Amino acid sequence: MPAVKPLVSKLPSAGTTIFTVMTKLAEEHHAINLGQGFPEFQPPLRLQELVDQYIRMGRNQYAPMIGTQSLRRAIAAKTEALHKARVDPDSEITITSGATEAIFCAIQAVVRRGDDVIVLDPCYDSYEPSITLAGGRTVHVPLRAPDFAIDWQRLADNLTAKTRLLIINSRHNPTGALVSSADLTQLAALLRSTECLVLSDEVYEHVVFDGALHASVLTNAELAERSFAISSFGKTYHATGWKVGYCMAPKALTDEFRRVHQYVTFATTTPMQLAIADYLIEAPEHYLGLPEFYREKRDYFAGLLRESRFELLPVRGTYFQLASYAAISDLSDIEFARWLTIEHGVATIPVSVFCENAPREPLIRFCFAREPQTLAAAAAKLRAL
Ligand code: PMP
Ligand code: GLN
Repeated sequence: MPAVKPLVSKLPSAGTTIFTVMTKLAEEHHAINLGQGFPEFQPPLRLQELVDQYIRMGRNQYAPMIGTQSLRRAIAAKTEALHKARVDPDSEITITSGATEAIFCAIQAVVRRGDDVIVLDPCYDSYEPSITLAGGRTVHVPLRAPDFAIDWQRLADNLTAKTRLLIINSRHNPTGALVSSADLTQLAALLRSTECLVLSDEVYEHVVFDGALHASVLTNAELAERSFAISSFGKTYHATGWKVGYCMAPKALTDEFRRVHQYVTFATTTPMQLAIADYLIEAPEHYLGLPEFYREKRDYFAGLLRESRFELLPVRGTYFQLASYAAISDLSDIEFARWLTIEHGVATIPVSVFCENAPREPLIRFCFAREPQTLAAAAAKLRAL
């Protein structure tokens, strides 16, 4: 066979994602995995029954390319009830194979070679590779410590005629920070005279704490006209493995989005879509109860670490707890996370992998979407440091 020339990578700086790396390391060293973000709980039993029912009813072939009508309608109803925002289920909602697919499709749909895309650091790890594959350039604008708020001056300084897209994420992975309604108003004013579109990653829309409501980008009518609002049922239904997400955007953006989506996955799993649609309508108390469900876990985990040398940062949403380990070690966060896994049996995620420039404070991320006994066992090891 003729030798194949060595490939020139289209993603030369991408290794294996940190979530896979840390989960593998945790498995190899039998460490407690507080790294990768996934719930240790099962989806609600009734939802599992509905999936089972639809599989047995023979609903096992391709779903419509844009998603089942029942699920798109149920999402539109939820969005109107929660955010008073009207989204047309036929022309403005598309079901995707997780939020990851929706993020990828939205970026491919609108970013061209030579365009800039602004991300706010720390940012989720799938954004930059998707931008690179579209031929765009990622412009990293750091959020402002200690509360990880938008640095308006730096954002304005980086916004140019080349900026095609701004990606925001609220509640924010990994910091738990939020974008408020006032922030959305300010953002609308900043973008008013530009051609910049917005991708709003809202996968933790139902994991919000301390009575604050989730301010979806759709609640700001002006921003909604230029935004992709993306979410996922993975977090909401403790079902990250089902990979069902969705994208809401005005018709013109949705048309372009679907042109890409139809050739990326075509459609998303049928029985899951049908079951989630029923359950969304049948049991709103599930997602309405998530803030309290996770607040209890957040507070339980924080209580367990009170006597430790970690300094915990405030968490306003998501199921992640950031912690400074400055009092424990001088190692870089990547080295510290490896050391903690291998030597002390607790896997976490280093925060610098979400950033172009590592934050000054050395930070790691714990996932507290775990059973109390898992959190207690991990905390016992962490308190011993
Ligand atoms: N965005 C953020 C901020 C996330 O944390 C995640 C996954 N945890 C995703 C997107 C991807 O969601 P999905 O698993 O539905 O693809
Ligand atoms: N989003 C999850 C996290 O932040 C993991 C997703 C993945 O493993 N790709 O941990």
